[in-house]
Amino acid sequence: MTVTAPGADAAPSLRALPAEPLVPRSDFPVLAREVRGKRLVYLDNAATTQKPFAVLAAVADYYRQHNANVHRALHTLASEATEMYEAARRRVARFIGADDPRGVVFVRNTTEAINLVAASWARARLRAGDVVLLTVAEHHSNIVPWQLAARATGARLRYLPLGDDGRLDLAKLDEALAGVRIVALAHASNVLGTVHPVGEIARAAHEAGALVLVDAAQSAPHMPVDVRELGCDFLAFSGHKMLAPMGIGVLWARPALLEEMEPYMGGGEMIDVVELESSTWREIPWKFEAGTPNVAGAVGLAAAIDYLEAVGRERIHAHEAALGRYARELLAEIPGVVTYGPEDGDRAGIVSFTVAGLHPHDVSQVLDDEGVAVRAGHHCCQPLMRRLGVEATARASFYLYNDREDALALARAVRRAKEFFRVP
Ligand code: PMP
Repeated sequence: MTVTAPGADAAPSLRALPAEPLVPRSDFPVLAREVRGKRLVYLDNAATTQKPFAVLAAVADYYRQHNANVHRALHTLASEATEMYEAARRRVARFIGADDPRGVVFVRNTTEAINLVAASWARARLRAGDVVLLTVAEHHSNIVPWQLAARATGARLRYLPLGDDGRLDLAKLDEALAGVRIVALAHASNVLGTVHPVGEIARAAHEAGALVLVDAAQSAPHMPVDVRELGCDFLAFSGHKMLAPMGIGVLWARPALLEEMEPYMGGGEMIDVVELESSTWREIPWKFEAGTPNVAGAVGLAAAIDYLEAVGRERIHAHEAALGRYARELLAEIPGVVTYGPEDGDRAGIVSFTVAGLHPHDVSQVLDDEGVAVRAGHHCCQPLMRRLGVEATARASFYLYNDREDALALARAVRRAKEFFRVP
């Protein structure tokens, strides 16, 4: 899995990388602040992203001008809020290539979206001996809900292995699909940056009679994602990882599947008629949206989509991939630094690394002193850490407001960490 041997003779071919970010840093108020007297270099985008003025303004405008509960009253504010909320749903549908907005369910985040499927679809359908196919690189939010569903039904989990190049080993995919009812995998790994061939896996899964859930938490914000091209049945992602507020996320599902599924939560908004002993449900997608939803979050998500689409996700993907490659080259020049994930091919701008003799937490502490924000830990991927043979890594993750200077600042700060702890 190791890509860069310590002291490898890497040729920094990308020194000519465009110095500019894809969008002005001044679009993002938080990027104007300093951290410990230094320019903020925000490289924790896989955890969450910063918000542009356009998103903050959309949320503020919603609360200042329109705030009301949706779908409940007939007064003017309520119908405006309802229209804004439903317009956001249509915006999300277009963003992921879904022709029917009824397939878009607003949830809090990727985690809730996957739990919804694991609870509502899987628990009612899985039988003892059925198999749920995952990969060892999954985020805990795409493992634990399936463990709960398996425990409740007697189903089993099976894991696709990862090759030493950081890519899934698909040689035995057909064999691995025996007895599988659903395949659930990330489109892009939040640790390795690998972009998995989801379309190919979905085709094989469907031939084997299995459904496919794609965790798009690290892809929808960064690269074109089209549910028709992916051929998946469920897609999950989080607004906060794509410039939108926290607390809004999306589960997209084929509408026919949503029709067949029982509600996940019960309460207001999701019912048609409530009797003392039983109730009937509203039509999809509202059947899955019990209680007052995060209307401001949905409005902010629509504004974030407008912002991202004005730039173009192909360009965002290319920019981040180039910055990630450049950062790996710079890190490769530092003795003792090891980076993880595929060396070439389709890859997100995520760079996980370790520094010999230093704990990743110590590395990230010194980086913070230099104004460089990265994450250190297991990144909610303990099985993957075991596969990599490490307890933790540091992780720098790029977005459209990062630039060459950010990659250089990262490498400088890693050298500084080594000096600080006096590791050779
Ligand atoms: N899946 C992946 C691949 C992720 O990177 C993350 C967030 N780190 C999640 C799922 C969970 O996202 P959330 O916490 O927004 O539910």
